[in-house]
Amino acid sequence: MGLRLKPDFDRTAKNTNTMNNPPAEYCCFNCFTHPTLLEIVKHGADTEGQCDFCGSESVLLLHVSALYDSLNNAVRM
Ligand SMILES: [Zn+2]
Repeated sequence: MGLRLKPDFDRTAKNTNTMNNPPAEYCCFNCFTHPTLLEIVKHGADTEGQCDFCGSESVLLLHVSALYDSLNNAVRM
C-alpha cells in the first residue's frame, strides 16, 4: 500500500470537509479517458469509495491535488 499523503493537503482536507456539503476532492479512473490520466489515477490511488466528481461507487480514488502534482511532473519530463 503506497500512502503518499502530504501533510499539508491532509490538513487542508480536514479543514474543508463538512458533513452536509463535502468538497469535490477525490477523482477516479471513470472520470478520465486520457491514458496518462488513467495511469496517474491507477498508480496514485490511495483510497477506495465514492467518487466526488462522477459519483462512481466502490472505486479507487485519487486526491485531486495528487493528480495536479503528477501532471506537473509529467509536463516537466
Ligand atoms: Zn470519478
